[in-house]
Amino acid sequence: MDQVFAPWRIEWVKRDDKNPGVEECVFCELPERADARENLVVAESEHAFVLLNNAPYNPGHLMVIPRVHGGDYAALDDAVLLDHARLKQRAFDALDAAFEPHAYNAGLNLGGGPAGGSIDDHLHTHVVPRYDGDTNFMPVVSDTKVVVEGLAETYDALHEAFAAQPDARVEGEDAAVVLDFD
Ligand SMILES: [Zn+2]
Repeated sequence: MDQVFAPWRIEWVKRDDKNPGVEECVFCELPERADARENLVVAESEHAFVLLNNAPYNPGHLMVIPRVHGGDYAALDDAVLLDHARLKQRAFDALDAAFEPHAYNAGLNLGGGPAGGSIDDHLHTHVVPRYDGDTNFMPVVSDTKVVVEGLAETYDALHEAFAAQPDARVEGEDAAVVLDFD
């Protein structure tokens, strides 16, 4: 049986709940919205933010996303690259503290199409916690699975974990934790 592990196929699910018919970039818009908790934005830094996947492969599946809109990794400048990488480190730390996963998969979908992403014009790094035995639940036919429950609990656990990190600023339970790396 061929079975490819492909959590990257589990993309953010776009919801046209605001301006139906208007083509917008959800990854540009979400960090600008007032209620970060409702929009699953759990932490942010100067040039990047952490968004929970609303169709997670596993509990804690999140994305680390540069604020700048674009799909070309080579186009990111040094400040954005460093800030994005540091926020990835913090995301691993927060997941370790909140869920103690046994391993991680982390990666980018570049170029759309065969890479499997549904949003290919705004870079985002998937971070997928892995737990011993989680492949036992992988569907035989499909290469995707979805854990739809527990997003609010996941948000709260990660919010608390980010808030406990060095130089974290918490402006409320419904606001993303602000991380200052300088
Ligand atoms: Zn965008």
